[in-house]
Amino acid sequence: IAVTRPQVPLRAAVADLPAYVPGARVPVGAAAYKLSSNENPFPPLPSVVAAIIDAAADMNRYPDMYATGLTEAIATSLGVAADAVVPGNGSVAVLGHVLAAVCEHGDEVVLPWRSFEAYPIAVALAGARAVAVPVTGDGRLDLVAMAAAVTGRTRVVLVCTPNNPTGPAVRSDELETFLAAVPSDVMVVLDEAYLEFVRDPAAPDGLAVHAAHPNVVLLRTFSKAYGLAGLRVGYAVARPRLARGIRAASTPFGVSHLAQMAAIASLRAQRELLERVDALVEERVRLLAGLRAQGWTVPDSEANFVWLPLGDRATSFAADAGRAGVLVRPFAGDGVRVSVGEREATDLLLELASTWRQ
Ligand code: PMP
Repeated sequence: IAVTRPQVPLRAAVADLPAYVPGARVPVGAAAYKLSSNENPFPPLPSVVAAIIDAAADMNRYPDMYATGLTEAIATSLGVAADAVVPGNGSVAVLGHVLAAVCEHGDEVVLPWRSFEAYPIAVALAGARAVAVPVTGDGRLDLVAMAAAVTGRTRVVLVCTPNNPTGPAVRSDELETFLAAVPSDVMVVLDEAYLEFVRDPAAPDGLAVHAAHPNVVLLRTFSKAYGLAGLRVGYAVARPRLARGIRAASTPFGVSHLAQMAAIASLRAQRELLERVDALVEERVRLLAGLRAQGWTVPDSEANFVWLPLGDRATSFAADAGRAGVLVRPFAGDGVRVSVGEREATDLLLELASTWRQ
């Protein structure tokens, strides 16, 4: 007789989680252009690789627990105090720590949608409830509706600027109006993962906004402009009291020694890395202009990707792109996000797009 024994239950929030599906991994040497994960197409600079190789000799030791050297290097480059900076294992992990630091069970987190896929997952894992506010038809955050969605249970509002996957950044004036409407005990997280790609003069200066509003926390990363996605380094900038809470909620030894050393070396090579960003921005402008010249209606992009609102045809477009050697990210029934990469990849993509009528 088979005896059914009780099973270990999963938390309901965890059992119900949607899977976070990152872009397919392309084998090294494969002919495909990978434009599916908003990565930097440039490999790390030789000086960064050298720092990683040097650091490898110390792998029998734990890393500096609080990444002191990296924290100071980030703080110096931003002109903020070191006790305002909290690094972590990629900014997505830092977001988890931010939410863990402030959300009680059942609290609400207001977020834009569609936006970064990891948001609803991070919110559910924190035991909080996601309140999703639709982005506008042209892919912009609706900050008026987001402010209106704040209730007495709201602990955090996530502002993704530029918004992944649609592309626009918020404007400084609309952000100020929003911040004036949100109570000062609600944390506002500005996720600036793509900050270095922003060229719109109307976009906010996150550091100035943070300086003026104690409830504003910045989230930044070395994964995009700095090209260290594989090493996982991101950080929060917050008032020291909040930063202490985020640090307390963080994974111990959460940033590896290799990652700390590579990020420090990248800050030293900042000028050269930001020149690469300029080249990627030029490529973005070319891709966007090329699509619009073909008659596509695409939102503005201030990031390293563009959004094709293909609706029901998103998945078939992505499959077609894959056959043409370009991996892109479909969001079924909604659109396709194409990262900006090599020139040849832009050319291939534009060629393909011309055969699709929107
Ligand atoms: N925020 C946004 C808006 C993103 O698009 C991403 C990466 N896709 C991240 C955060 C996470 O970056 P990381 O964990 O690599 O620092």
